[in-house]
Amino acid sequence: MGIEDDDIAKVRAAADIVQIVNGYTTLKRVGRRWQGLCPFHTEKSASFSVNSEDGLYYCFGCQKSGDVITFVREKEQLDFVGAVEWLANKYSITLRYTERGEDEGRKRRTKLVDAVRKAVEWYHTRLLESADAGEARKYLRARGFDGDAVRRYKMGWAPDDAKQWDPLCRYLKLNDEDLRASGLGAINSRGRQYDFFRGRVLFPIFDDRGDPIGFGGRILPGHDGPKYKNTSDDAAIYSKSKILYGLNWAKEHIVQAGEAIVCEGYTDVIGFATAGVPRAVATCGTALTEDHIRLLKRFSPRIVLAFDADAAGQNAAARVYEWEQKLDVEFSVADLPNGVDPGELALTDPARLAAAITNAKPFLGFRVERVLSSGNLRTPEGRARTAQTAVDVVREHPSDLVRDQYLMTIADRCHLDPDHVRAAARGAARVAPGRVTNQPEPRGAMMPVDHAPRRRPMRENAEDEALRLLVHRRTEIIDRLEPVLFDSDARRDAYEALVSATDLHRAIAEASPDTAALLTRLAVDEPDGDPDQAIVDLSRYATSRVLDQLRREAASVREPEDLRAYSDVIDWLRHRLAELDDAEKRMSAAALLVAWLAENAEGPAGE
Ligand SMILES: [Zn+2]
Repeated sequence: MGIEDDDIAKVRAAADIVQIVNGYTTLKRVGRRWQGLCPFHTEKSASFSVNSEDGLYYCFGCQKSGDVITFVREKEQLDFVGAVEWLANKYSITLRYTERGEDEGRKRRTKLVDAVRKAVEWYHTRLLESADAGEARKYLRARGFDGDAVRRYKMGWAPDDAKQWDPLCRYLKLNDEDLRASGLGAINSRGRQYDFFRGRVLFPIFDDRGDPIGFGGRILPGHDGPKYKNTSDDAAIYSKSKILYGLNWAKEHIVQAGEAIVCEGYTDVIGFATAGVPRAVATCGTALTEDHIRLLKRFSPRIVLAFDADAAGQNAAARVYEWEQKLDVEFSVADLPNGVDPGELALTDPARLAAAITNAKPFLGFRVERVLSSGNLRTPEGRARTAQTAVDVVREHPSDLVRDQYLMTIADRCHLDPDHVRAAARGAARVAPGRVTNQPEPRGAMMPVDHAPRRRPMRENAEDEALRLLVHRRTEIIDRLEPVLFDSDARRDAYEALVSATDLHRAIAEASPDTAALLTRLAVDEPDGDPDQAIVDLSRYATSRVLDQLRREAASVREPEDLRAYSDVIDWLRHRLAELDDAEKRMSAAALLVAWLAENAEGPAGE
């Protein structure tokens, strides 16, 4: 994965899971565990539990589980390497990478990010303090950005000071190659370094981890030059087709709301946040790409477009449907007033801006509504023409179930027979039959998850108790358990994983996701059970199960000799079962039963 195993182990050992989790919720000590309100779902009573010795957490409400690295991955929305780096940074551990090239690449990236970070601070201070930034400050105030917003978004001012050597370049002291690679500057015809963003108000762009990687620069009104200038794609750490402005601030809110908003400008992102909708991001001077959608999908499968999606045209629509199918995301369109961008609306009517998101319409619904509301529905000819235009829009959608519902809406609004509209949709169809699919909608995955704890049957509780003991007090019980004592597949898998691995972490790492989650849950439980009682309970359930099976088989046996064999076994098991309730005999009976069950798991005397 890139980082040396030893270093990952070092990070794991150094990281204090209680300290890390306490950054997101408050844990209280309960017995040998720590408990608190779950940082992953909303709840009133604490169902989040942490085992600090083994470094594991489990939520009895939403079933989230894992170790300190998983926790950081989930909360900070990082990949594995990113989470290890985040922790290593916190605990001052130097990481080594498995491939030298990768190591070099990361070093280089760190160097360039550091340069951009220094530039962010330099421009920002310049905007706040410098006399030559007066016009920039005035411009930002007029756009509704107060000092708080300027500081929060680290806005900056790149002075237009070319008389001498550029002040930024003089401050950074980068060599030409690094200056170019950082995207901060270039070399003029006289071989002089110059600041790429001269004379612009700057919006620093951070990647989703919060590393500064570039800028969007806005020219001041009345000055020459393009309105916006962004960091060039030639810069080594910046790629506009993969970057979304604001994701570093919005990601947590996107996950919470299960919804991301995509708009077109830096000021729109900030406008949404000030209107109380802090989950907007913007593309940086480019149309939405598949990479953008893949990035957003890591945080939420629902995406609201807060720009004029219709103006983007038919190609955009085709891409949206393709992404919906291929990437399993769902697009809708914000209900914005015509011709007003979100940044402006945030200033004049923030409540209306928030409502635009609440009232977002499915992508196709939005487009059909556009056609219907702009058509002339007063004459038969007008209605027919409008219906045909709307049908053409509907025909682009790949699902016939979805298409048919909109066709009925069109029929209704244009006062036409639904069958005629359907016929019009079939006629001269532009959609190839191969693309037409029958996906059931809406998708079940969008439904809220029911967090109510399920009641487990007694037998499963007994199996859990035995596993819990195996996790916490391994030596007291491991020699007395057998796979046959576990009726549930999941629990038998967990048992096998625990027995074959040398320790809990290895068992979790090597198990399937379900089994790993079960093991983690058991690890955060209080190990207060009694091994003797666990063995007695398990052998009672397993024996009862086998007895039921033997009785069913015996009912269809014809040969007297076979029948006797069955009844001997059944009698023997019944006696041992009865002894399980006898305080004197229960442990020897349990031991006999476990041994018998291990030998004869499949049936009587292995016949
Ligand atoms: Zn939870």
